Parts: sequence; structure tokens; C-alpha cells
Amino acid sequence: MGDDMRCETSEELKAFVMEAKQYTKNGKVADYIPALGKENPDDLSIAVHYPDGSCVSAGEIDKKFTLQSISKVISLALVLMDRGSEYVFQRVGMEPTGDPFNSIAKLETMAPAKPLNPMINAGALVVTSMIKGKSVEERFQRLLTFIQELAGDETVQYCEEVARSEFETAHLNRALCYFLKQHRIIEGDVEELLDLYTKQCSIEMNCLDLAKIGLVFAMDGVDPLNARQIMPKDIARICKTFMVTCGMYNASGEFAIKVGIPAKSGVSGGIMGAVPGTVGIGIFGPALDEKGNSIAGIKLLELLSQKYGLSMF
Ligand code: GLN
Repeated sequence: MGDDMRCETSEELKAFVMEAKQYTKNGKVADYIPALGKENPDDLSIAVHYPDGSCVSAGEIDKKFTLQSISKVISLALVLMDRGSEYVFQRVGMEPTGDPFNSIAKLETMAPAKPLNPMINAGALVVTSMIKGKSVEERFQRLLTFIQELAGDETVQYCEEVARSEFETAHLNRALCYFLKQHRIIEGDVEELLDLYTKQCSIEMNCLDLAKIGLVFAMDGVDPLNARQIMPKDIARICKTFMVTCGMYNASGEFAIKVGIPAKSGVSGGIMGAVPGTVGIGIFGPALDEKGNSIAGIKLLELLSQKYGLSMF
């Protein structure tokens, strides 16, 4: 969504943001990726995008943030289109883990060592390794173009500073990659894969764009603004199902009970929501809870879900 289309500020949403904001003081900005540590923990903003093209918002909605783990849903959609589900799910599973998103533990105890799902880091690294293209540049460009199409905003780019910061400190993700390579789940050069993965995680946008992407998933892969099918319905369905079962890491069960919408979070503090057939939601609140989810963002979604009966269950 370019600068020409603006969201209307909603007094009702503003009141929900004020209420949820109190929780930011109980959270902490992620700093294991040093460049993320600079965010203001008090920030909280939201945009809600409707299929008719209208949009309501509250907070500093112009502020950009990096997608981090939210990008995992989008790379999965691209790879399912590139390779088909049989190929993809031979290499990554469909089950929630109950472990933190960056855990290595289950890889060693499961046989074969294929990661349990595409939303944990190990699984997302496998997914990214399957993006088609002749070089890192070509593969990244394909993903970026896909994200620009989903957001309807061709100005979306990645943040070089965050990508570099993560690449230099991604020791655990490197370990996951080498483990996966040893077990032949991934092929090719690990440093190139990490280069691609850290750029993918550093793609940045504001919550209006994020709400628009959520809307495309909510509308079964169709962009309601131009009636274009951007991804097959079945792939949007698979992605939304993973958002329900694994989208909020090892807090997905509690989130399903308290909020009940397909959602995906990232350690930048972003949350993308896709309420089936209804709306797309983009939230940015960088103070995180102990599981790595936006603490006030979750509260905000809880308030909205209760007020508008958004739970799908
Ligand atoms: N880039 C981050 C990582 O790999 C993404 C994790 C997340 O957002 N939870 O550690």
C-alpha cells in the first residue's frame, strides 16, 4: 500500500491500544539480534484491513519494522508454489513442537532429523533452502517481489543493518543448518542459506502493509483490491493452518484459546493476523513476553477478539 492510500484513525482502536499498552512494561525488546535492541519498548500500533479496501488504525502506523518470523509463512507459501506440497513436506513436518522457536533439541531425538514444522527456525531454514533461483540474489528477489505483490506495495525492501546484524550473530541458526546438512535435509552452502534467510527476516514494512498481507491470507489467497489470485486457495489454507497450530511458537495453544485467529509473530514485535473471510491485521509492539511474542500485541488481539467475536472456534 503506497503513501496515497491512508488508513483512518479509529477512536475505538485507539482506546484498545491505550488499554493494551499498559502491558508493554512487562515485556522486553529482543536484543539477541543486536540491531533490534534499539526499538522503543513502549510502541504499539495496529492496522485492520477490510476486503473492500478500507482500513482503520491506531498508533504510529508509519513506523517500519522487520518481519522476522512472520516471513516464514510467506516463504512457505512461495516454496509450496515452487515445489508442491509433497516435496516440501518430505523435508519439513506438520506438527507443533512445544519448544522455543530456536530449539535444536527435537532435531536430535527425532528420526529422520527433519524439523517438526516450518514455523520454527530449523523448519524455516529448510523452507528457505527450497526457494527456487540460480543465486542468492535471484532467490531473494523472487521472495521480495512476492511480498511486494501481497502487500500491494512495491517500495517494500529489506533493512541491511538488521540483516547484517543477524548474519554476524546467527550462531544458533548456523548450528541448526550444519546439523540439517549433516543429515541431508538441506543441500548447498550454509553461509549462502544464512545470507538469504537473514535478508528474508529483515524485510521491513509498516503495519498497514502487514495487515494487507494478512488480508490476502484471510481471503484464501485472493487480493480483494484487484480480485487477483496471488496464491492458490489450498496454499493459503495450509499457511493459515500452520498459523493456528504453530504461529505463536510454543504459546500457540493458549493463543488459540484466548484469541482464536490464525496469526504469526516475529521477534521484532510484529504480529500478522488473518481472520478467515473477514479482515487482515497488522500489529507492531516490540516489547516481547518470555516466549518471544509481542506482549501488548497479544493483549490487543485478545481485546479485539472478545469485543468482535473474532475467534473461529
Ligand atoms: N530472524 C529470527 C531468527 O532466526 C527470526 C526468529 C523470530 O522472529 N522468532 O532468530
